[in-house]
Amino acid sequence: MPGFPRLQESYDLVILGGGHAGLAAGLKAGLLGYSALLVDRGPKYGRSYYAPRMDNIPGFPAGISGHKLLDHQIAALRQVESRVTYVTPALATGLVRTERGYTARFEWLRQTHEVSARAAVLALGVVDRMPVIGGEIDPIFPWANQGIVDFCILCDGHTLPGKSVAVLGHDATAALTALDLPHFGPRSVELLTMGRPLLDGVAEPEKGELGAALRAAGITSCDAEIVGFEGLREKEFHVRLADGSLRRYDKGFSGLGWYDQHAALPRALGARIDAEGYVVTDEDCRVLADEDGAAIPGLYCVGDLRNGWNQIPEAWATAERAVIHAYAYYL
Ligand SMILES: Cc1cc2nc3c(=O)[nH]c(=O)nc-3n(C[C@H](O)[C@H](O)[C@H](O)COP(=O)(O)OP(=O)(O)OC[C@H]3O[C@@H](n4cnc5c(N)ncnc54)[C@H](O)[C@@H]3O)c2cc1C
Repeated sequence: MPGFPRLQESYDLVILGGGHAGLAAGLKAGLLGYSALLVDRGPKYGRSYYAPRMDNIPGFPAGISGHKLLDHQIAALRQVESRVTYVTPALATGLVRTERGYTARFEWLRQTHEVSARAAVLALGVVDRMPVIGGEIDPIFPWANQGIVDFCILCDGHTLPGKSVAVLGHDATAALTALDLPHFGPRSVELLTMGRPLLDGVAEPEKGELGAALRAAGITSCDAEIVGFEGLREKEFHVRLADGSLRRYDKGFSGLGWYDQHAALPRALGARIDAEGYVVTDEDCRVLADEDGAAIPGLYCVGDLRNGWNQIPEAWATAERAVIHAYAYYL
């Protein structure tokens, strides 16, 4: 059994976050002959961990689950472990710019560590907001784990033809999610606003426009409070309302948006954050400064945290671009 990895004082590259993007960045750094430190909180904090089946991953025609794909990527990273140190579970808590590059701070094995690196890659991902039922977020997990409730229209829209779908959420994000779904041919779409009035807090004229678009698309809404989920045995999404009644749908869909977009570290480094909360980069994934839009030297952002598409092929592509750019200009 391998022991704990040994830390060096400095590396060529430090990568914060080891989901699909961070693991791809670590592998690329190792293959290009660089030393790298990859700091990851753990796969279960990654977005795809509860994706039971992904159909757009080349090489897996029968689909593959998110955590199996992570296992494959971790196994690939182990092939370059003489150069790339992978510490997990470890929590990145700081990244500061120095004369020679960056110093990263993280908690690992109950100690605070600091290492320096010539360049840094932010790959912290984003975290989906979960519905809160009786003060808990767990009740939805069994349905999410079986792909009965989906979180990503680009990933799972193709599973919706002919299905009745409930969209969770009350705001503009939820309405826009519901309005996107008819493209995939569901039998019906209904918004479940979970005790909030539909479009509560959305300013005019957007509120009126969204309301009209929902009506035109035949999308209904139900504003009753939800007290529980059922239907797992039937592989359906059944929703128990506060008045005791049950609404049955084939599938659920989250229109709740993000709980955390991990903007604290990039913001502290002066990164530009867009209106949706994503880190703004150029096409080489260099983080742009909020002040003047110039690239912050040696700082990259890849995967879901970066402004772009929240998809695994995009996570991989951005990781490749970032590390190849660092190879050409900083390492
Ligand atoms: C239910 C669901 C289904 C999906 N299905 C598909 C699909 O079919 N096809 C597809 O292409 N995409 C799919 N996606 C999207 C895909 O999961 C994401 O695009 C992908 O995970 C992004 O990779 P990432 O590395 O940027 O972020 P993540 O995979 O979320 O990884 C982020 C990593 O950063 C770590 N981290 C966070 N904060 C810290 C910290 N402070 N210190 C250390 N580490 C930290 C986390 O532990 C995690 O490992 C799906 C997403 C969901 C939620």
